[in-house]
Amino acid sequence: KATVKLITSSQVITSVFSVVKELVENSLDAKATSIDIKLDNCGFDRIEVRDNGIGIKSIDTKYMARPHYTSKIKDTQDLEMLDTYGFRGEALGSLCSLADVAITTKTADDAVSMTYLLSHEGKIIEAKPSHLGQGTTVTVTNLFRNLPVRRQFYANKKKQKEEMKKVEDAVMAFALLSHDVRFCLKHNNNVIWQKQPLADVKSALINVFGVNAMMHMEHVKRKSLETEIEIETFLPKKSSSSDVITRSTGDRFFCYINKRTVVMKDVEKLVRKCYLNSTGADATRYPMGFLHIVLPYKDVDVNLDPNKTLVLLQEKEKVLKFLTLILEGIYGPKGNKAT
Ligand code: ADP
Ligand code: MG
Repeated sequence: KATVKLITSSQVITSVFSVVKELVENSLDAKATSIDIKLDNCGFDRIEVRDNGIGIKSIDTKYMARPHYTSKIKDTQDLEMLDTYGFRGEALGSLCSLADVAITTKTADDAVSMTYLLSHEGKIIEAKPSHLGQGTTVTVTNLFRNLPVRRQFYANKKKQKEEMKKVEDAVMAFALLSHDVRFCLKHNNNVIWQKQPLADVKSALINVFGVNAMMHMEHVKRKSLETEIEIETFLPKKSSSSDVITRSTGDRFFCYINKRTVVMKDVEKLVRKCYLNSTGADATRYPMGFLHIVLPYKDVDVNLDPNKTLVLLQEKEKVLKFLTLILEGIYGPKGNKAT
C-alpha cells in the first residue's frame, strides 16, 4: 500500500515546478492577494509558499493533508462548474509522502497562527502557536527524500537551471492572469521576479514583456455570437517588427483555458502559422503572446492528468474556428493560408 501511495504521489508531484504550481493554486483558491515563493538551492533544499488568503479552519487542519481531502467540491455536480484550481485533494497528501512538510495557518477568526508539522501520511505530528498573520505558509524540505533516482536526476546544475526556468514561467503565467495579486519569487534570498497588484492583464504583461514590446501588441477581447466561447488575447501586431518582440520576450507564449495554463499544440500551431504568414518572420521565431480561452465549465475536462496542463475540449473545432476568426482580424484572411 505504501508503494502504491508513493507511485501515485510521484505522479502528482513530479518536480519542484509542480510543487510550486500546486501550492500557488491553493493560495489563489484561498483568495490570496499576496503570494511569496521562496526557493533554496533551486527548491531542492527548501520550497516555501506564503499567502495572505483565508487560511485553514482549525477544525479542518487534521484533514488538510490526508489523502483525497478537499474543501472545494462536495459532489460531482460541482465538477461541472469548477471555479477553483483544486478539486482532487491530492497535492498536500502527496507532498507529505515525498517530502517533509510544515504548514502555518491563521484564519480571520483565529487569535494566533498555528504551525503544524506533518507526518509522511499527512497526519499532524506536532502543533504549536506561531507569529504569522492571516493566511497560510507551506514549507517543503527534503523533496523526493524517498525517490533517490529522481533526486539524483535533478542533482546536476543544468537540470536545476531548467527547472528554475519552468518555475519562473509558471509564476509569471499565474501572475499575468491574476493581475491583481502581488507575486514575489525569490531564489537563495534574491528576488528573481516580482509584480505588484495591477489593474489589468495589459499592465501585468508590461511587467513581463516590457513597455517597448507591448507597443507592438494588439489586444483583442471577443465573445462568440453563436457559441459560449470568449477569447482574450495579446499578440504581435501585423506590422510589428519581430526583432523588437523576440528580443524582449524570449518567445514566451502564455496559453490558458478557463484560467488554467494549458499546453495545446494545435492552438499554438494555428497562432504561429497566422503570425508567420503575415509578418514574414523567419520560421524559427514564435510569436510571444497571451491567449485566454473561456468556455462553459461543462465543455472542459481537466481530469486528463494530475498536472492539469492537458485538457479535453468538448467542442474543439468551434474553439479553433472562433480563434481563426480573431487571428484573421489581426493578420488578415491571408494569414491563415494553408501551409
Ligand atoms: P485541493 O486543492 O484539490 O482541495 P490540496 O491537497 O491541494 O487539495 O489541499 C487540501 C485542502 O487544504 C484544500 O481543499 C484546502 O481546504 C486546504 N488548503 C491547502 N492550501 C491552502 C491555502 N494556501 N489556504 C487555505 N487552505 C488551503
Ligand atoms: Mg490544491
